[in-house]
Amino acid sequence: MPADLPATADVAIIGAGPAGLAAAVRLRERGIGHVVVLDREAEPGGIPRHCGHYPYGVREYGRLMKGPAYARRNVEAARRAGVAIFPRTTVVRLDAGPLLTVSRDDGVSQIAAGRVLLSTGVREATRAQRLIGGTKPGGVLSTGALQGLVYLEGLRPFERPVVLGTELVAFSALMTCGHLGIRPVAMIEPGAATTARWPAGLYPRLRGIPLLLGTRIEEIVGRERVEAVVVRGPDGARRTIGTDGVIVSGGFRPEATLLDASHLVRDPRTGGPEVDQFGRCSDPAFFAAGNMLHPVETAGWCWREGRAVADAIADSLAGLLPARDAVVRLETSGDMLKYVLPQVLVPDRRAAPLGRLQLRLSRPAHGTLTLRQGTDARALARIDSRPERRITVPLDRLPPLVSGQAQLALQDGPR
Ligand SMILES: Cc1cc2nc3c(=O)[nH]c(=O)nc-3n(C[C@H](O)[C@H](O)[C@H](O)COP(=O)(O)OP(=O)(O)OC[C@H]3O[C@@H](n4cnc5c(N)ncnc54)[C@H](O)[C@@H]3O)c2cc1C
Repeated sequence: MPADLPATADVAIIGAGPAGLAAAVRLRERGIGHVVVLDREAEPGGIPRHCGHYPYGVREYGRLMKGPAYARRNVEAARRAGVAIFPRTTVVRLDAGPLLTVSRDDGVSQIAAGRVLLSTGVREATRAQRLIGGTKPGGVLSTGALQGLVYLEGLRPFERPVVLGTELVAFSALMTCGHLGIRPVAMIEPGAATTARWPAGLYPRLRGIPLLLGTRIEEIVGRERVEAVVVRGPDGARRTIGTDGVIVSGGFRPEATLLDASHLVRDPRTGGPEVDQFGRCSDPAFFAAGNMLHPVETAGWCWREGRAVADAIADSLAGLLPARDAVVRLETSGDMLKYVLPQVLVPDRRAAPLGRLQLRLSRPAHGTLTLRQGTDARALARIDSRPERRITVPLDRLPPLVSGQAQLALQDGPR
């Protein structure tokens, strides 16, 4: 057993990002005695540690902050609240109990916890997963890798890259470039409009960066380093753009490797654990919050969700949560709905941390979202959205449901 690691905890939290740290503080506020947070990185704080740009923290702390200051603030708040944070501590296995197997430089050990919160965030798709052809030169980076080089190692990986993607995190990449005076030569989006909501699309224009919509990167050219990309535009024409780097953004999946060998049910649509409206997993001693549930949301959203799920954990320890049996399982039908969260509903009308259905589309679509159980069908909302954008429907808009399955579908309709 490594010297300082406890063998037991009331609640063990895996992941010291905004969701895990906010949950830890809330658990202490709720009077939970021994709360530990474990993180594999050398420093706690999660992704905001390497997002050296605004805007973070306004709703949480009433102050506009850059990512690293926000991460520090979350860590300080947890330490002040009496939370024990263990960096360089990787959880390698989850077992019923709950029992965590933990690996550190000084050995492998186990922690038995009353409850476990999974808040391990997301990872980005690699270039190979995005099926971009061509040579394999240096200078092709995900946003996370870029931010690690720029903010944590002070490096300047390129001067005039292209950015592939226009979801929220692609704009984080643009801001990272701006921080060092790196000037992207284009922002490239295969879809007909930017994925992030207006006014995000104004940002590249204000910085004089061409926004190429309806355009795909077909090939990356270069031997040692990236020299150019070959793109196909909306008119079908191919052209070559000279560049010295490619930032590949988007294609997020939950960092859910831990689920693979665990007993917890995984949702194939989100890639994260299947949870009910209390953030509770298929084993009700495990909970989840933050981006591992829903690739990908903002830091503020994950922070608030962490706090809210912490309330459910405290209620669970006090025996106040309804049993997770006789559940309604939400299925999606058709190919337009990419995922829905929570995937499981306990028939209980009390306020819950995941008190809204959260949905994402797999392609741009508009129409009516309907919920069907047996022969009853109810229109829930009109939807007109693009993929990767947040869509929510309050749970109290749902009709009473009986245990079993219910189908969500998006029926195409006029705008
Ligand atoms: C590259 C990138 C840039 C982003 N930029 C922005 C932005 O500018 N603004 C914004 O609002 N949002 C941004 N986001 C979204 C971002 O994910 C959220 O801001 C927020 O950090 C999510 O919080 P979280 O607590 O869910 O996860 P994270 O912040 O990702 O924290 C998860 C933590 O879990 C740890 N962990 C994972 N697995 C294990 C394990 N097995 N054992 C121990 N520890 C583990 C990780 O080390 C990490 O510290 C960005 C996301 C990415 C990927």
